[in-house]
Amino acid sequence: MTEDKQKDQDTEKDEEQKINNSENETTEEEAKREESKAKFTFKCTRCDKCCLERGPIPITISDLELWARNGVIANFLPYLDIYNKPDGGMDLILKPLAPAKEGEEAQPGSLKEVPIKELLQEKCPLYNKEQKKCLVYENRPLSCRTYPLEFDGKNFSVVDVDCPGVGEEGMTKEELKEMRDTAKRMYYELTRIRIALPVLNQIITGNFMRTLMQQQMEVMSSLSEEDKEKLDEILKKGQETNE
Ligand code: SF4
Ligand code: SF4
Repeated sequence: MTEDKQKDQDTEKDEEQKINNSENETTEEEAKREESKAKFTFKCTRCDKCCLERGPIPITISDLELWARNGVIANFLPYLDIYNKPDGGMDLILKPLAPAKEGEEAQPGSLKEVPIKELLQEKCPLYNKEQKKCLVYENRPLSCRTYPLEFDGKNFSVVDVDCPGVGEEGMTKEELKEMRDTAKRMYYELTRIRIALPVLNQIITGNFMRTLMQQQMEVMSSLSEEDKEKLDEILKKGQETNE
């Protein structure tokens, strides 16, 4: 065998070895990925901890569609609010009940009345403490169906490592797949409503302001000259007090 031929054969062997090594690495990486996927095991123990201290629950368009289809949307309306988040984003949420004052029952209030930071660990308004159950279980939001698993467009993560269901054995492959699919769907739905909500909010607020101004102009034009003078005096006094 000539020297050149021997060299060619050696180079071929090296290439083959490199390919084998890289295939092995890929298989190892895949195995690791599979292993880390398999590490997530979950079985809800129905301890209801998440309903008792969950804070605001994000609502999606698919939740609204489900409630409209099932004719139960009115049950949710008193608890829906818009949350202007510190990062400038906006979420439609199921707002937690503000803690009840002594001798009073907890009532849904506006986020303007109770700052959100005081509600971050409060109970979901649809959880009944006495009966220890979710009052809307069949219609519970998507976010409750995927809890505590979240998907951020790339990776899955567990948002509540203290959830007693995390690590519980007995989850089937099908259940894992379903939970992962729901987490992905939640991510998609959340993105969808986060795009739509600021636009809808502006349209609704704009319409509301226009109606309000129109009503004020109508009231003003129906006032007598005497009433207008009285109103001017009241406004002037108010201005002086503010100064
Ligand atoms: S998701 Fe977790 S915290 Fe919520 S009820 Fe199930 S086990 Fe409890
Ligand atoms: S809607 Fe039901 S499942 Fe979801 S947090 Fe409220 S009580 Fe729990």
